[in-house]
Amino acid sequence: MTEYKNAHIIFINRPGVNSEPVEDNFRYEECPAIKETLEDGEVLIQTLYLSVDPALRCRMNEDTGVHYMQAWQLGETIQGLEGIGRILKSSHPNYIASDLLEIKMNCPWKLFFLCKPDDGLIQLQTLNRAVVGDHPSLALSCLGLTGLTAYLGIKLKGHIKPGANQTLVVSGAAGATGSLAGQIGRLEGCSRVIGLCGSDEKCKLLTDYWGFDHAINYRKENVAQRLKETCPDGIHVYFDNVGGEISDTVIRQMSPDSHVILCGQISVYNTDLPYPPPLSQDIQQILLEKNITRDRFLVLNYLDQFEPGINTLAQWLSEGKLKVKETVADGLQEAGRAFVSMMRGGNIGKQIIHVSD
Ligand code: NDP
Repeated sequence: MTEYKNAHIIFINRPGVNSEPVEDNFRYEECPAIKETLEDGEVLIQTLYLSVDPALRCRMNEDTGVHYMQAWQLGETIQGLEGIGRILKSSHPNYIASDLLEIKMNCPWKLFFLCKPDDGLIQLQTLNRAVVGDHPSLALSCLGLTGLTAYLGIKLKGHIKPGANQTLVVSGAAGATGSLAGQIGRLEGCSRVIGLCGSDEKCKLLTDYWGFDHAINYRKENVAQRLKETCPDGIHVYFDNVGGEISDTVIRQMSPDSHVILCGQISVYNTDLPYPPPLSQDIQQILLEKNITRDRFLVLNYLDQFEPGINTLAQWLSEGKLKVKETVADGLQEAGRAFVSMMRGGNIGKQIIHVSD
């Protein structure tokens, strides 16, 4: 009987609510080998890819502050959001060996694992090969939660009207969600798209590869000044991935009756502020006076719109209307480093971990 030598990433210590996560918060360790003896209803899975997400930062705190995420416990295997796996053996009628799977929610950062899909702790969905082709990790980026976040955020909260000469500003624009949000905003009808990001290399990609009209490096440029220059007709939609000072600067220049898509606030994830963080008095006043909407957006609230959303994204991708980039960390042992790097801006497009072929 085959035995699979196993390893996992465990959570070693909490960075503290007001500190950046560091590699030493994680440890790669061997763990007991898995035997091919399965109980009824069990599936043996080999992990191929893992998704690395900012939302995991709150799981490093004792209190995540959100109802849909549990805190990681010290010494336990890290559970990420999503992954891609291959079924090595199955004693469940709905799952067949060699099928590829999307592992949705609570995906363990482990080389191999056994799970009982019917107990509901880990959700498995057979990967639609017709949609992802020979690029399964697309199910973690454009054709997964990331793509849906960009698409449904723009669609449901952006109020974009084709032909209305709207300008869209995206923060975190060279990241997984932001790079798609800018492209989707254009496809939905925005006439001008501006991206904010943290390096010149990212700025160049935003304009030359992803087709943004302008890019602003918030680390070295005067954001207020550059927004004035690049948004002569005002700002009508703001896809906000970062919050904090950058977002305050954008909101100060937004047009009357415009819309903030409140997607994420990564600039305050390493602080004890609640989510979403409270706005200063003057920004609240601007929102009120200019009638700017700023509803909280959580992609998981729109499960019924996932299937049509993925179909649209897949169609755009196949027509070459969407371009996707991934930053790939090679090997499970790199997982902690990849998470820390992504939180500091080390990624371009979607940060994933390639665990095995
Ligand atoms: P990204 O691929 O965008 O990676 C995170 C990026 O954030 C980094 O690359 C970095 O880019 C930027 N960043 C980090 N710190 C700061 C800072 N202090 N100020 C400005 N930018 C910073 O991650 P995702 O696409 O996965 O997530 C983007 C946002 O979307 C996050 O806020 C996340 O929480 C949110 N999200 C929300 C969902 C929802 O349902 N509402 C679902 C999924 C994600 P740079 O070099 O430009 O600084």
